[in-house]
Amino acid sequence: MQAEELIVVGGGLVGAAIAYGAARAGAPVTLLDQGDIAHRASRGNFGLVWVQSKGEKLPRYARWSRDAVTLWPALAKELLDLTGVDVALRQQGGFWIGFSDAEVQARQVMLEKINTAVGGIPYEILDHAALKARLPAIGKGVAGGSFCPLDGDANPLLLLHALHAGLKARGARVISSVDVTQIKHRPQSSDFEITSQDGQRWHAPRVALAAGLSNTTLAAQVGLHAPVSPNRGQVLITERLKPFLPYPTNKARQTNEGSVQLGYSVEDVGLDDGTTVSAIEAIAKRAITTFPILGSVRLVRAWGALRVLTPDGFPIYQESASCPGAFVATSHSGVSLAAAHAHVIGPWMAGLAPTPDEFDYFAGERFLDPTRSFSNAH
Ligand SMILES: Cc1cc2nc3c(=O)[nH]c(=O)nc-3n(C[C@H](O)[C@H](O)[C@H](O)COP(=O)(O)OP(=O)(O)OC[C@H]3O[C@@H](n4cnc5c(N)ncnc54)[C@H](O)[C@@H]3O)c2cc1C
Repeated sequence: MQAEELIVVGGGLVGAAIAYGAARAGAPVTLLDQGDIAHRASRGNFGLVWVQSKGEKLPRYARWSRDAVTLWPALAKELLDLTGVDVALRQQGGFWIGFSDAEVQARQVMLEKINTAVGGIPYEILDHAALKARLPAIGKGVAGGSFCPLDGDANPLLLLHALHAGLKARGARVISSVDVTQIKHRPQSSDFEITSQDGQRWHAPRVALAAGLSNTTLAAQVGLHAPVSPNRGQVLITERLKPFLPYPTNKARQTNEGSVQLGYSVEDVGLDDGTTVSAIEAIAKRAITTFPILGSVRLVRAWGALRVLTPDGFPIYQESASCPGAFVATSHSGVSLAAAHAHVIGPWMAGLAPTPDEFDYFAGERFLDPTRSFSNAH
């Protein structure tokens, strides 16, 4: 296959990983990014590299997530070797924490269902005593939990930095402060014309749309259906503490620097990425119930960030049928899936690898089926 130029619109975790993967595979790549005015989930997320519980309603997604986290160590190592940036990957497993026996039992049913459908996603269900033996800091209010040895976490800001540095190291052009407003398919010249708000223009035979919340309007211009909407998550961070939490959990994770990140709210508030006292209070209370040691530490920061969610919470990866060479990618697990976006999606969108198997499941047209209803509650 011949390497054609690929323009990637969007330099968050999804676009940067795809662009990096395309450049790594040998394609000439240009990345266009809006820059500081943008809403960026990639700068406000929780940093989990997570597979347990993913894809209960879509086994192809469970398999995709499993394979993606398996690729993560290779991505972390190559980014370190190429850029000198250590993304602080820690992947010795992760714990989900439950507060009632009913919740833990429901968890077991779900994890068994996923593992039966897909295989290769090992898990353990732990009661309070068994969990306490592994995570001595848990409080009395914790009923139990689940553990998956494939899970982990990483520093998402360093990941974004490493991907951008890796792009440059592999010869890609990265252009920021560019607000792409128009994408025109020009079949007569076999390319796309991409225009920014300030009138700049670029041309390439391939374009990958990875522009987060802008994907819906941009994708529609090249015959793709990519409905996404914002969903706010608030996250808190504590002062630095001595290490007490050797594994990430879905409620809290201690970073390699010692601070503890506490998550997170799930709020439908449009494009408001602010913080609220009520959400901060609820997150802090839940964290203290989980790990009572946190009751006496200081919070140093709180922020809100907007998730990029499809109606069912699963990704969209698709090439346009009416404008071949135009692709869209959106995912609510930009950290967890980063290695698959780099090693699989990037080469595919650059035309250097075939479409991954059973990718029809990720087509945006699924949302046009009037017989289906969707929920992205997570
Ligand atoms: C609170 C919270 C916690 C999360 N926790 C996790 C987690 O633990 N693990 C995990 O895997 N995922 C997590 N996520 C999700 C993860 O952050 C996202 O999947 C990921 O950041 C999405 O990346 P993105 O590049 O699609 O979007 P964004 O980060 O939103 O980036 C979009 C990019 O597109 C650019 N852009 C937008 N419009 C245009 C335009 N018109 N022209 C040019 N450029 C444009 C912007 O500049 C921006 O850089 C979390 C998200 C939140 C909010």
